[in-house]
Amino acid sequence: MSVAIEFKDISKRYGDVTALDHVSFRVEEGEFFSMLGPSGSGKTTSLRLMAGFEQPSSGNLALLGQEAAGTPPYARDVNTVFQDYALFPHMNVLDNVAYGLMVRKMAKAERHALAQEALAMVALPDHGNRTPAQLSGGQRQRVALARALVNRPRILLLDEPLGALDLKLREQMQVELKVLHRKLGITFVYVTHDQGEALSMSDRIAVFNNGRIEQIATPRELYYRPRTRFVADFVGSSNVFTADLAEPLCGKRQAFAVRQENIHVTKPDAPKVAGQVQLEGELLAVQFLGASQRLEIKVGSHVITALQSDNTSTVPSQQPGADLQPGQTVALHWAEQHMVMLDD
Ligand code: ADP
Ligand code: MG
Repeated sequence: MSVAIEFKDISKRYGDVTALDHVSFRVEEGEFFSMLGPSGSGKTTSLRLMAGFEQPSSGNLALLGQEAAGTPPYARDVNTVFQDYALFPHMNVLDNVAYGLMVRKMAKAERHALAQEALAMVALPDHGNRTPAQLSGGQRQRVALARALVNRPRILLLDEPLGALDLKLREQMQVELKVLHRKLGITFVYVTHDQGEALSMSDRIAVFNNGRIEQIATPRELYYRPRTRFVADFVGSSNVFTADLAEPLCGKRQAFAVRQENIHVTKPDAPKVAGQVQLEGELLAVQFLGASQRLEIKVGSHVITALQSDNTSTVPSQQPGADLQPGQTVALHWAEQHMVMLDD
């Protein structure tokens, strides 16, 4: 496989702010690669470097096997879709999509044909004559996507493109983007702060924290084998036990994580089982979430969260958690195999 994007020891500073701190990674051609991290962690900066809107302070960037330094944004085989996609309100949808081609002096018939094709790709073939005001939010975002695709880039950069949409529409667009990615076969680089979005869409995810990458892995690897406390906490909300907390529990001074859904809560008189860690604590809260319930248990000075999802019983008294009351003492159990050791 060939490499679409390579960051080689790239740092980016703005005055005394270090937005990226010696970052190296590769994106393969055709991959759906996500950059996930909290606000301010360096995701947009990475994307702007790829697009050519910014230059690295140090290090090198290669695009499709070529050094990118010196290549201006318009000459890169890259297009960007932003969250706040500004469509021209006075132009119809077809002309909005064709705008970049017009600037490049392509003849009208030709650019309209390409724009029409791009609108078909985003499932809006009959909307070319409308104005942006006559579209829903999701449709406007698809027009923004068509505007990037009309240039037929080999790399599409997307910066939180669904951030302005409500949950249902966002989920629908996530599926559509995946389908589009498969159909086009080009490289997608997708920025998001939403771990669910990254897990559901990506081939691989880079987790950003404070201008560095904590881990790059497939969604399943990240979820089941987080390497650091930050990743364990940020991706899917594990319970993180620091080395101090781990020592009295399992005799080892090494931080570990246990996923919320792997912690089972029962009445305190449950017998001890080999291969299981068992603790007692005070139930602080039971939160009913529909398909699951979330229990918070205080153990010493630590609060542990357990997610119980077997809500399939039709008898209310048999549903998990139904017989547990805040304030009571409960037992927590997890299988030793569900403890994920962390590097820091
Ligand atoms: P993210 O997209 O992950 O939220 P950014 O890449 O936008 O993060 O920002 C990373 C850091 O760089 C932040 O601390 C941000 O304030 C800073 N930063 C980004 N762009 C600029 C800029 N043009 N001038 C000064 N600081 C900036
Ligand atoms: Mg950003």
